[in-house]
Amino acid sequence: MRIAIAGGGLGGLTLARILHRHGIDAAVYEREASRSARAQGGMLDLHPESGQQALADAGLTGRFRSEARPEGEEHRILDPAGRTLVHHLPQPGSFAGRPEIDRGALRDLLLDSLPGDAVAWQHRLVAATPRPDGGFRLTFDGGHNADCDVLIGADGARSVVRSLLTDAPLSSVATLVELNISDADRRHPDLAELVGPGNLWCIGVNQILAAQRLADGSIRVGITLGADDRHLDTYRSKRALLDIFDGWDPGLTALIEAGDNPPVPRRIEAMPTGTRWTHQPGITLIGDAAHLMPPVGEGANQAMLDAAELAAELATSPADADAAIRRYEEVMFTRIHPIAEMSARVQAMMLSPTAADDIVRFFTPRPTEPAPAD
Ligand SMILES: Cc1cc2nc3c(=O)[nH]c(=O)nc-3n(C[C@H](O)[C@H](O)[C@H](O)COP(=O)(O)OP(=O)(O)OC[C@H]3O[C@@H](n4cnc5c(N)ncnc54)[C@H](O)[C@@H]3O)c2cc1C
Repeated sequence: MRIAIAGGGLGGLTLARILHRHGIDAAVYEREASRSARAQGGMLDLHPESGQQALADAGLTGRFRSEARPEGEEHRILDPAGRTLVHHLPQPGSFAGRPEIDRGALRDLLLDSLPGDAVAWQHRLVAATPRPDGGFRLTFDGGHNADCDVLIGADGARSVVRSLLTDAPLSSVATLVELNISDADRRHPDLAELVGPGNLWCIGVNQILAAQRLADGSIRVGITLGADDRHLDTYRSKRALLDIFDGWDPGLTALIEAGDNPPVPRRIEAMPTGTRWTHQPGITLIGDAAHLMPPVGEGANQAMLDAAELAAELATSPADADAAIRRYEEVMFTRIHPIAEMSARVQAMMLSPTAADDIVRFFTPRPTEPAPAD
């Protein structure tokens, strides 16, 4: 059975790794030119029941613990005047919660766990055509082809494989503008102190100024604004962003001024909650290709869990991939539905006029209910 995985992101690589552990080969086709072609972005917190579980199935818990930063769980929430609303300090050195790891480090540890030829770099899938005798013919940018019996779309938000299973539309849920501040301790010690070892969120009305500390000593700044029709070029200058944050404490907006390069804006999109498709032989989706959600901390975790569950099903019935895919899809649809609903709710809450109060409530543990009197 020839398995092709389109996309060598966190979902696709986790899938290839767990299949490899079960003695099942898969070819990963990745559009990027090499593992270092592009910076991979900020950090992720891996949850015990999803991302960490998948890494355990991949036999990579030890490597994860040596790369992860439990102290990155520290977070601060401030209002636009710079007043602290929440300051969460994790237990020192504890992996019990949701330790953070840089996305690049996580991808590297997955790549290092695979045979050297498992990933075909510079293979951007442009079309997948069903073959009359089953399976698919894959066509890549540049014109070369490959055949497979099973095709797994792990090709992210703008998946090409998705269109073979569903025409669920994408809708814009926010605009994200990112900046990077390198060598923060030396160049901007005040900002390094403000952000701390983990995450900082400054919550306004319909706008959030966030920052996170990466292992290489840089700070990644992310500005989230409501979805709008304005051209993305509107957000490519620091001046325009500073105007949006006019009236905020200058100690906070210094995060924008300190950015190394011009801001990089992009739209954040999501699929409709509850998207599912009718099973088709020899093909399925994992991760963002299957269930693109607003980014509130679940997408990578669920992509990795999808990979672990699909790999386990394929390993259970290697001679009947269709039965394995059916079982995976049913469980995945049921698991994802409430998570996608929650993600949409949290995203809406973060950009609402009462965001600060709502978020403080969200992060404040409720007092335990008194036991009813006899
Ligand atoms: C700003 C932001 C912050 C986030 N923070 C978190 C977080 O804290 N926690 C969390 O769990 N999730 C987070 N997410 C969500 C998370 O990034 C995604 O859900 C996760 O990366 C999905 O993994 P994936 O493997 O499905 O897709 P991706 O990681 O996007 O990987 C897809 C891969 O496919 C490749 N590819 C795409 N098209 C093709 C093609 N046609 N042919 C070949 N290759 C292709 C891409 O190059 C990429 O390598 C965040 C998302 C954003 C935008």
